[in-house]
Amino acid sequence: MSDDLQRCIDLLQQMIRTPSLPGQEGEMAKLVVNEMRDLGYDEVRVDEVGNVLGRIEGRGEAPDLMFNTHLDHVDVGDPAGWPHPPFGGEIHDDRIWGRGAVDIKGPMAAQVIGVARLLQGGKPPGDVWVTAVVQEEIGGVGARHLAESLPASIVVVGEPSRNTLRRGHRGRTELVVHIKGRSVHASVPEKGVNPLYALGLFLEGLGNLEMPEDADLGPSTVAPTLLRTDQSSANVVPGEVWQTCDWRNVPGQSGDDAQRLLAAIAERVLADPRACAGTEISVSVPEVDWRTYTGVHRPIPGAHPAYILPTDHPVVVAAEAICSAVLKTEQKSRVWQFATDGGHYAAAGMVPIGFGPGNEFLAHTVDEHIEIPALAEAMAVNEALARRLAVEAS
Ligand SMILES: [Zn+2]
Repeated sequence: MSDDLQRCIDLLQQMIRTPSLPGQEGEMAKLVVNEMRDLGYDEVRVDEVGNVLGRIEGRGEAPDLMFNTHLDHVDVGDPAGWPHPPFGGEIHDDRIWGRGAVDIKGPMAAQVIGVARLLQGGKPPGDVWVTAVVQEEIGGVGARHLAESLPASIVVVGEPSRNTLRRGHRGRTELVVHIKGRSVHASVPEKGVNPLYALGLFLEGLGNLEMPEDADLGPSTVAPTLLRTDQSSANVVPGEVWQTCDWRNVPGQSGDDAQRLLAAIAERVLADPRACAGTEISVSVPEVDWRTYTGVHRPIPGAHPAYILPTDHPVVVAAEAICSAVLKTEQKSRVWQFATDGGHYAAAGMVPIGFGPGNEFLAHTVDEHIEIPALAEAMAVNEALARRLAVEAS
């Protein structure tokens, strides 16, 4: 085993043993900063929202290239449901187990250590940044900040992709439909305004929506998810209901478009005589406003934009060639099923390409683990991308 693979394993185990829920990434950030300093990165800093940025200086002959992951992870739920302790970082069967193993501490370790190989053997053509942002799991306040403050031309997004390339994904917007009526005792429903009749019509309208389709990503979709009323008693007509809708949009459709489409359904519902007279409906995209661990409040809409690169995009073509050469099999890029911070970078004019070790379908599960050989492979690809992508794509 190479020395730096052992170092990658040690780092990943330490990362998994350092819980870092959104808003609580401080210790994890320290760990990454110390590792980058130890490895000899030319510049290491933490920005005002708590993102970690490491830079390896280039020869000034190519645009800046950025590698990117996130410091946070989703909650573990009941630890008793895990086959191995979620914050243990234990090794079984050549795999490292625990929360964050694939989403996204394994890919992060493979970026931090793989890219550090540039510090031996000559400077890269342009500056190479390795960044890890805060609060990806709750809307991307860290990525939005980084996209404004560090305009690299190309971004390698390290979300797990089983060491294959990804060139886009649908976006995601969370919308809340608030239907207001008037609560009364359920024995005299005719005296109240029951919002659930309007909700029924609304859901029917939702099911009938015609969705745009993308050749690579398929159609936009919408799923009603959480449902809440203002009552907890079975013998009371509710006065208000809140229906959350999870909207996955293809490029060309935005979260604002989704909001307009839902508002149009709402208008039709209110014109329908089957909805109780006096019902009111509003559709909103709730803001996410979690304090960062550095103490910053920056409200953002609960939305990740979609993006897709065409198969003949120079960055896609170059990344496929580099990846194929390292992995010694022909690599064709595909798309992700889920949204990433790549959408924020694309919205800011950067070109995000995805590559990361680990099976993405293990993310957010109790079986989360990563295979050690996948880390070794990812480090080799990351090193090659860091040396060549900015030049070969231009
Ligand atoms: Zn992730």
